[in-house]
Amino acid sequence: MKLNISDLLKHRKNVLPFEMSLESDMVERDDFKLKLREPLLVKGEAEYDGEVIKVRGRIHALIEAQCSRCLTSLIKSLDIDFDEKFSKSPDDDVYPIYEDFINLEEMVVDNLILSVPLKFLCSEECKGLCPKCGKNLNFESCNCEKDDIDPRFAALKDLFKGD
Ligand SMILES: [Zn+2]
Ligand SMILES: [Zn+2]
Repeated sequence: MKLNISDLLKHRKNVLPFEMSLESDMVERDDFKLKLREPLLVKGEAEYDGEVIKVRGRIHALIEAQCSRCLTSLIKSLDIDFDEKFSKSPDDDVYPIYEDFINLEEMVVDNLILSVPLKFLCSEECKGLCPKCGKNLNFESCNCEKDDIDPRFAALKDLFKGD
């Protein structure tokens, strides 16, 4: 994801709009893995103040994930705003400017890692899988004995005691 910034550095332009995509079906770094449904899109603008290049914009991704409760496959749309700096003397918060380009990829992956939740749910009300028989409790019920009853239902259970 190299962005040619020679026009900015030579002051031929003050603002450089850009739109780039990542032609890969996976974003991966260490333990972080994101499966992409379509090429990830990065749209924004770069601005040079004589010292640093400020890059602002939005990352759009359509990802494949799994509900952490019922394991159903999900497709999620993500939109993540970024506002970052690039410089010839980079440090922890500032990305490097190479000869006449900057590479957006590291910055994009950093922003994904910061913003993408570790767990997804198909819905807030997802009932998950029965830990005993594995049935998807969103679609069917089972007669397994539940050891740990949700406190919200404990009162109900008391009602039926003595049956
Ligand atoms: Zn679910
Ligand atoms: Zn069950």
